[in-house]
Amino acid sequence: MKKTMNEKAPTTGAASRKRGAGPQLFLKPARERSLRRLHPWVFSGAIDRLEGEAGSGDTVCVRAADGTFLAWAAYSPASQIRARVWSFSEAEQPDENLLRARVSAAIARRQSVMGDANALRLVHAESDALPGVVADRYGDTLVVQLTSAGAERWRNVIVESLREASGCKLLFERSDGDVRALEGLASRVGMLNGEGSAVAEMKPDVIEIRENGIRYLVDIGAGQKTGFFLDQRDNRASVAALARGREVLNCFCYTGGFTLSAQAGGAASVLSVDSSAPALTLARRNVALNALDTARSHWVEADVFSYLRDLGREGRTFDLIILDPPKFAPTSRDAERAARGYKDINLNALKLLRPGGYLATFSCSSGVSADLFQKIVAGAAADAGASCAIEQRFHAAADHPVMLEFPEGEYLKGLLLRKR
Ligand code: SAH
Repeated sequence: MKKTMNEKAPTTGAASRKRGAGPQLFLKPARERSLRRLHPWVFSGAIDRLEGEAGSGDTVCVRAADGTFLAWAAYSPASQIRARVWSFSEAEQPDENLLRARVSAAIARRQSVMGDANALRLVHAESDALPGVVADRYGDTLVVQLTSAGAERWRNVIVESLREASGCKLLFERSDGDVRALEGLASRVGMLNGEGSAVAEMKPDVIEIRENGIRYLVDIGAGQKTGFFLDQRDNRASVAALARGREVLNCFCYTGGFTLSAQAGGAASVLSVDSSAPALTLARRNVALNALDTARSHWVEADVFSYLRDLGREGRTFDLIILDPPKFAPTSRDAERAARGYKDINLNALKLLRPGGYLATFSCSSGVSADLFQKIVAGAAADAGASCAIEQRFHAAADHPVMLEFPEGEYLKGLLLRKR
């Protein structure tokens, strides 16, 4: 009798001590708080013991020290994030149906955010209750990134559900980020055939997409991340709206997202800097593809840190500067080193900015919060002797949702500053 009551109300009052057949992950006393707040990560330091056996990606039942059910999660023995939650409901044990439903729901949520673009993120990992699963749509092609042990364990179901629900003809896998190594998984890059396995021999072509009325070529095979930084879509539109008649400096330009936006918005000139030669080559092709004035765009292959100093020595100044560096701090442990990097580029950029000019400055580091980022930029402005108004705060576009219970999902933040 008592046992039945516990099963019906497993998360309240007396603990559910029912032990299923599968592996059980017990937390240390008082370490269940974040899971109760629906945060989907179980760190290795919070774990007391694993009862039963679990391999990489296997489903484990996570329990509080007193045995209360907390979550179903994917076990990842190599990672500091030892388990990632699939479900907080005891009745919702992960299976094919659950994963299919999650993929369909994620794609259904995107219907309202499509706009003019034919490229958007269909699945955004934890924010879509699919930890380790990212899927970016570029026209009829879907680029899939599986970065967690759990996602890898369910790869066939995930890939086939994505194929069905997205209607995309071609699926290409880009599971080659550093996160995969942290999970103890090898890289996988290649076309995805019907079985959900990557076939590396087939090389995809460069794909053309459309965003904010601009055409871009995306190299899904060799480009960074899945090929294009879709999260900056709205922010590129904001920059376009500011650009008319301005002399623009675009740092970390990649394939020219902000460069083309500024030129389409009527910039007088755009000087674009990146350390990647292939990115600059594609950026130049993008300018030509849009029949924009190639005489107004100048390209430099350089390290932004030292190039900003060179520009300062040459006495160059600009009306609009964009700083969109790569992730300096993947986790909060790297925040201090990252802070030095952000301060350096913001300080040197502000010195090049004319009074009345704009600085659009970004951070995509999960380990640096929006608050901390603003403090770092304020420190840079103080050292540059620049007084600046915050005219806008930037975020990732709506196809990259942020969950209240998972603030790590708010990795992209930015400020639009106007120098007085
Ligand atoms: N703003 C771009 C995305 C930038 S991604 C867009 O809208 O598409 C970050 C870019 O920084 C990458 O292209 C990478 O090659 C470049 N990069 C990384 N470190 C750099 C450095 N020290 N100097 C110059 N470029 C760098």
